[in-house]
Amino acid sequence: MAKVQEGVYFIQGQDEFIPDSHVYIIGEPSSKDLSMVDVGLAGKGAYKVRAIEKLGIALSSIKRIIMTHTHFDHIGCLPEIKREIPDVEIWVHKKEAELLAKGDDRAVYGMNEFKNMCEMQYGVEKDAFTLTVDHTPEDGEILEIGNMVWEVLHIPGHSMGGIALYNPVSKILIPGDVVYADYAIGRFDLFGANARELKESLLRLAELDVDILLPGHNQIVKGLPATYIKETAKMWAPYLA
Ligand SMILES: [Zn+2]
Ligand SMILES: [Zn+2]
Repeated sequence: MAKVQEGVYFIQGQDEFIPDSHVYIIGEPSSKDLSMVDVGLAGKGAYKVRAIEKLGIALSSIKRIIMTHTHFDHIGCLPEIKREIPDVEIWVHKKEAELLAKGDDRAVYGMNEFKNMCEMQYGVEKDAFTLTVDHTPEDGEILEIGNMVWEVLHIPGHSMGGIALYNPVSKILIPGDVVYADYAIGRFDLFGANARELKESLLRLAELDVDILLPGHNQIVKGLPATYIKETAKMWAPYLA
């Protein structure tokens, strides 16, 4: 677990055959009103729980899990985390929450071949991701949680209900899998993806003043160049028509 700054903590994903998403803990620990952003791949819950405890954060102060989106590498270990933190709320944008509620796991697996592989490889139960979420954060919603303020942006394209969290005070962006370091962006070939929407989402993120980029995978970046997201969007635009 690394401290990005006061109130923002980073637990690095442990990729193993399939990527395991990073997890961020946001909120001032003294508030005892912390949020976990994404949880990660199936089988990758235990080390994250230990990492939280190592930081001296009581699991009971983790009040909610905010999902940037519900792909398997981000939501896979939810059953494990729920066992350790039974009262934790789950927040998902309504476009993906509606699917989870219906037991439609296409937004989790993205494609059928992947679903079959995951069920075999990880022994995932058939209805593991059939659930009713506690809250559906909407575009433009301002979250005042953990003595911090985060703005919600709906940024579809990589997935239909993808959201970013943006902290304007410290200029921190948590964009899920929409944009990464090294001019990389999320894939746009899975169920619910849309290249044109991804381009629009990138252009929207490019308008933000971002100093710290905390993506779902790969490196985190401090001191992000001012035009970084705009340049990334421009570079990918020909492929996102
Ligand atoms: Zn994803
Ligand atoms: Zn991912």
